[in-house]
Amino acid sequence: MRLFSGIAASPGIAVGRLRVVDRRNLTIDAYPIEHDYIEPEIGRLRTAIDQTRAELEAIRARLAEDTGSDHLFFIETHLLIMSDDRLFTESAAIIEGSRINAEGALHRTLHKYRELFAGIEDAYLRERINDVEAVVERILRTMTGQVHTPISAEQGHTIVVARDLTPADILQMDKTRIIGMVTEGGGRTAHAAILARSFRMPAVAGIDGIADPAYDNAPAIVDGTSGNLIVHPDQDTFQRYLKLKQRYEYDEQALLRSAALPSLTLDGHRLELRGNVEVPEEGQFVLSHGGEGAGLYRTEMLFMNRREMPEEDEQYRVYSAMQQAVVPHPLTIRTLDAGSDKLLADIPFSVGQNPAMGMRAIRLTLAMPDEFKKQLRAILRVSANGPTRIMFPMISGLEELRRARALLDEAKKELSEAGIAFDKAIRVGIMVELPSAVTIADLLAKEADFFSVGTNDLIQYSLGIDRSNEHLAPLYQPLHPAVLRSLRQVVEAAHQAGIPACMCGEMAGDPFFLPILLGLGFDELSMNASSIPRVKRMVRSCSRERAAGIAEACFAFATAGEVEAFLKKQIDIHFSTGRS
Ligand code: PEP
Ligand code: MG
Repeated sequence: MRLFSGIAASPGIAVGRLRVVDRRNLTIDAYPIEHDYIEPEIGRLRTAIDQTRAELEAIRARLAEDTGSDHLFFIETHLLIMSDDRLFTESAAIIEGSRINAEGALHRTLHKYRELFAGIEDAYLRERINDVEAVVERILRTMTGQVHTPISAEQGHTIVVARDLTPADILQMDKTRIIGMVTEGGGRTAHAAILARSFRMPAVAGIDGIADPAYDNAPAIVDGTSGNLIVHPDQDTFQRYLKLKQRYEYDEQALLRSAALPSLTLDGHRLELRGNVEVPEEGQFVLSHGGEGAGLYRTEMLFMNRREMPEEDEQYRVYSAMQQAVVPHPLTIRTLDAGSDKLLADIPFSVGQNPAMGMRAIRLTLAMPDEFKKQLRAILRVSANGPTRIMFPMISGLEELRRARALLDEAKKELSEAGIAFDKAIRVGIMVELPSAVTIADLLAKEADFFSVGTNDLIQYSLGIDRSNEHLAPLYQPLHPAVLRSLRQVVEAAHQAGIPACMCGEMAGDPFFLPILLGLGFDELSMNASSIPRVKRMVRSCSRERAAGIAEACFAFATAGEVEAFLKKQIDIHFSTGRS
């Protein structure tokens, strides 16, 4: 038996046999060419790109017929990457400048993109290199005649193992027989992981060396909840996991059945629960899991893998699709929270030595007012068709909020002059995710319509702990007294000004923290859709009054460990369920 520990990419347990598929094993020859061959090679590249685009369009048409418009977004993304002619122009320049063949040139271009993406601090955007790789691979296969066939399975209970999987792989795979996925690359925010979650397929990512043919046909267990893969499980482990799987599925069914119940505490207090979303396909998932709209729509996805900002109309179309997925519930659209400017080659800002504190989020958009207004106008136009809220990321002080609001006013004026409808009373909120915003929460509350606490960043900046450094994970403490005091200060400032206090960081999706968040007085929690049923079960099993008592008592402790021990005891005594 061998246990591998990876990234929990999609929850659930799959028990079956591994099927190692070779999706990336392309043999590429790069060789010098004579001057006379430059033009024909460039022509060959053009033909391969056009042919690949036609192939993708055919897949898009087929999928639209088979499954309706769901999940098409991913193929669209690849088509979008192909529509940027840079892949062609840069490779053609290499063919000409370095006098090498088209395959070699395309490979060099990909290498350049890999380096560019590797420096991106935001994990989500960094992982978008997978899409560029998938597109380049498809073109190379077309050129070399090494065709890419859909992943099939001869037997049921198949767990696909690959170095990496593309969204197209997942969309096209035989899901009656394939029940789980394991990849060497990827992460929680890779497209493949998002799709696996939406197909409820357990998945583990980030296991080095697992795509080795030696593992083909080995019996295995994928635990997508903990991120473990067990190959050749012994009898005891096998039996234990069968039971766990049954229990997980039974729990999921029970949770989903009760997901539509109102989010009310035992003493009748209402806590709004909403979903965090990135692509329109997730909207439906939020509703089926009992969420009432989206509390955080991360718009970064739309800006990825491209050198130029998406035009207003394109943004409008995508935001509308998201809105249609959650309407009549509200949609909270966060303006671009790019971690760096690296994707946008024309932007003359340096990331600096410390990108987490560099040119990013609201600072970046304020520095590009015309681009920012395009996004604001697209959001405003969407607001005419359903309840919509705007949210600005990483606000550190009032000047930023005022400047962002001034640009929003300009965008409103432009739309009014053009006779285009929008919600004139659209609510404008801010993410509270910097210690400075906490300290002046009372001042910000006077000029914001709601607060949404981004604990992922707030904890990082308050405790000085890099949120993506796995070696520091034990020090990343949501229950640190400094964090708890910050949360209390934010809720109090919001309520004193009469605005709602929301939370959309990961802390909101862990039922273990629910008594504290409810007790502190948060009005709304937004989380990954799959967490909503468990958090709702917790809400329904507790009284607001008791939660307030527990939250208050937590402030008597001086360390995160003490708070955690106390909270665990309280949950064991008073609540029907604890940490999931
Ligand atoms: C946060 O920081 O908590 C948050 C929700 O934003 P993001 O994870 O996108 O930085
Ligand atoms: Mg953040």
